[in-house]
Amino acid sequence: MHQLWEAAIAELRAKAPGSFERWFSSIQFDGFTDGVLQLRAQNAFVRDFVNEHFLALVRERLRERTGMTIEIAWSIDPVLPSPVAPRPSQPPPPPPPAEAEPAAAATAPPPAAPALVGVVPTPRIEGLNPKYIFANFVVGTSNELAHAAALAAAGAGSVRRYNPLFICGGTGLGKTHLLHAIGHHIGSARPGLRIVVVSAEAFTNEFISAIANKEMDQFRTRYRTQCDLLLMDDVHNLAGREQTQEEFFHTFNALHQADKQIVLTSDRYPHELERCTERLVTRFQWGLVADVQVPQLETRVAIVRKKAQLEQLDLDDEVAVLLAQAIRSNVRELEGALIRLAAQASILGRRIDLEFARSVLASALPPRATPASVEDVVKAVCNHFNLRSSDVLGKDRHRSVAQARHVAIYLCRQRLKCSYPELGRHFGHRDHTSVMHAVKKVEALRVADPEMRSHLDAIERKLGS
Ligand code: ADP
Ligand code: MG
Repeated sequence: MHQLWEAAIAELRAKAPGSFERWFSSIQFDGFTDGVLQLRAQNAFVRDFVNEHFLALVRERLRERTGMTIEIAWSIDPVLPSPVAPRPSQPPPPPPPAEAEPAAAATAPPPAAPALVGVVPTPRIEGLNPKYIFANFVVGTSNELAHAAALAAAGAGSVRRYNPLFICGGTGLGKTHLLHAIGHHIGSARPGLRIVVVSAEAFTNEFISAIANKEMDQFRTRYRTQCDLLLMDDVHNLAGREQTQEEFFHTFNALHQADKQIVLTSDRYPHELERCTERLVTRFQWGLVADVQVPQLETRVAIVRKKAQLEQLDLDDEVAVLLAQAIRSNVRELEGALIRLAAQASILGRRIDLEFARSVLASALPPRATPASVEDVVKAVCNHFNLRSSDVLGKDRHRSVAQARHVAIYLCRQRLKCSYPELGRHFGHRDHTSVMHAVKKVEALRVADPEMRSHLDAIERKLGS
């Protein structure tokens, strides 16, 4: 198997030895079975870079040799050597061919091992992403409550500690980052503390196999007795899993009674969780529910700067602003765009200046980016119905205004995946039930009423689909 892998990467090694050595020295080949290639990377940045730039070729070569479609299963292993660190047992890599990597030393993004970036989480805790520490988290109005609450849960804040802390919000907005930051912080302040980090998905799987293997005692020991801090990611994934919910309910009670901190994340508010037992929802609301929202432009710019600094990228300020303007709704995508930019610059031996960033972004972004803000939707709706934004966002109950408002609320829910409380805040501080009602109403009218359908079609055309 190893030979197959070696053969598949031989071509890459020959093509760009410098680059190859830099990146592949930190990739570990773990096996290749049934078309699944198992690889380990030191961190997510290395993984993404290698994935994006080298693996298409490797995949293709493996496919040619085996006739199978190749899947790649990555895992992250912070203990692997960092890509920039030369390996002592090997001669230094040959100088890179001039045409392939002219400015590699200056512009290649050396994926910084956390050790290089100042604040280091010590010691490493299994299951925690080493980059997700408080020091790397940019605080803005969109996330300051969640951040303060996370600090408090970590025993570092001035805010009172809430149990549980329930962090919720859309995808890619920093929930997992905060969750892990709590773990790092407590882990280094109190090394003896037993921290359990688990996704709801993994909890479910462990639970199922514990039942199958008659290992429920061990399972309960792990989650109830030998756990001082439970960090559970993505609890919305417990939806519809009754038995797991039941088990988790008891886990929760045991920990809570013993005054052990519980931190949960979810992509929606507790009361919006589907197929989740009422008693769990109630418990999720016992402590503090803190949401993360889409960050404002200034925060997004600060995030891009922070990431560039962490990845030791030389990035012009205008480029940070350009990126933050182009990608508005999801920090993960923002990061992805930065990494793509860095990768392309590195391959082409270019500096990441405004001109370069524009050209890369222009080809990467869809011609009409989907509107990412409530304002965009409100504007389009007002335009269509010939109203002012202040009408639609305000309290006017006149029929035509109310209808436009309902349409705007519906479209925000549909396209921006806004939560009901969030919508309530935007639209004249309504409570979430009336907002929910508006969404349901337009949903029904869309089916039943041709006039409503044509309104919606027209507005959606304006917004671009
Ligand atoms: P979620 O769990 O909400 O889907 P993540 O925590 O995985 O999102 O965040 C996605 C990416 O965006 C991560 O790499 C994270 O470090 C980054 N990120 C999100 N919010 C921030 C922030 N405020 N400051 C710095 N990085 C952030
Ligand atoms: Mg997450």
